[in-house]
Amino acid sequence: DVVREERLKYLTDQKGIKAVTVLFSDLEGRLHMLDYDKKFLVKSYDNLTFDGSSIRGFTAQRESDLRLGIDWSAFYFAPADIFGSGKVLVFGEVIDKNGTPYTGDVRGVLKGFAQQLFDEQGYTLNAANEIEGFLFNGVDAERRFPETGRFDYVNTGGYYHSLPGDPLRTFIDTTAEVQRAMGFENEKDHPEVAPSQFEINYGYGEVVAAADQIQIYKLICRQVATRMGMTASFLPKPVVGVNGSGMHTNISISKNGRNIFWEPKGEEKLSAFAWKFVDRILTHGNDICLLLNPSVNAYRRLDPHFEAPNQIKASAVDRGSMVRIPIGNEKSSRVEVRSVAPDANPYLVLYSIFKSGLHGDLSKIKNLRQAERYLPDNIYTALDNFRTANWTSTLLGEDVKARYADLKQASADRCPRLLGTYVKPSEVQFHHEVY
Ligand code: GLN
Ligand code: MG
Ligand code: MG
Ligand code: MG
Repeated sequence: DVVREERLKYLTDQKGIKAVTVLFSDLEGRLHMLDYDKKFLVKSYDNLTFDGSSIRGFTAQRESDLRLGIDWSAFYFAPADIFGSGKVLVFGEVIDKNGTPYTGDVRGVLKGFAQQLFDEQGYTLNAANEIEGFLFNGVDAERRFPETGRFDYVNTGGYYHSLPGDPLRTFIDTTAEVQRAMGFENEKDHPEVAPSQFEINYGYGEVVAAADQIQIYKLICRQVATRMGMTASFLPKPVVGVNGSGMHTNISISKNGRNIFWEPKGEEKLSAFAWKFVDRILTHGNDICLLLNPSVNAYRRLDPHFEAPNQIKASAVDRGSMVRIPIGNEKSSRVEVRSVAPDANPYLVLYSIFKSGLHGDLSKIKNLRQAERYLPDNIYTALDNFRTANWTSTLLGEDVKARYADLKQASADRCPRLLGTYVKPSEVQFHHEVY
């Protein structure tokens, strides 16, 4: 393994590096970080274990020991002013006792899926996510929401505002600078439509790297905000009456370096292959909605009055459609799935979109792309759809499917109780947990 040897040599040679932070995510997408002393890790990287029983969605207590492998290809320099000095970040791979990839580690599931498609069909899966978020005053604005009942904007700017001397400007600039230092391919960043809202965009990347980038993006935003005495929030709809935050997921597939979603003579300049992909996603739109919108709060966002979709349609123009076809060219041709919340598990999001688009069923509904079909407007309907769909069993396997549904049921049930004494049930629009 050439990459591994290179990284190990780098770790040993760089005297300034003292620790390696290994990152992995639980089934709901919470990022976990485990710090190893560098010297220990270099010696023991192929013999790491941890207790999976405290990680949500992982093992039951009686089978709690899991192995932690290192994905040496997912290795990031960690800027000292944000992460503390002398650290690098690397993604871990959870392996079960038999030495096979652990099915609850959906990063590994996504990676295996992408690898198999490459080996068998020569496909490279590409993704670029547009992750929106809010910056609020106070370091623990989300945790304290049940007491305060409100979020405190840091500005009232709005879309592309110039924000002279504004904390949101400092936040966006610092975050972008940290990302560049870590090797992200930043494309643009800007204040979004709602007050205190931001968005940072990247060039597309291979699907696993793109998902890892989402996890790091949110981590950096939270670190930078905390240092400013603020909170970076990825709640889908923290404030009623203004736009929520989406995580529009732009996808394409290439083969031998050619984007096979592009066809200049096709409808909206998409190939027949891409349209079939879209049709399969629309077919399974209800089945996978819980994976793309995992929280009570996410369903508050799905409202076309605020540029978020609620219809299971495909359109070049209508931002109320689940799938939009942006103007593209030979390189940038893609489909944009808009019904994705920023608190979703990015590995599950990308896995379910690609697998549904490539291997899903095709609906018998006439005019599927135009038909009046709606996404669920609350998490309980989404849970029902998810549980009763055969497709989600094929996607995840019965075991992971059941664990995921149970976690989401529990988090949905906790929400009104957490807020019940502070907010009228009709106004419960905030989901307390942070992903
Ligand atoms: N904030 C909108 C959403 O929730 C998107 C708005 C935009 O990107 N122009 O999806
Ligand atoms: Mg955008
Ligand atoms: Mg946007
Ligand atoms: Mg978009």
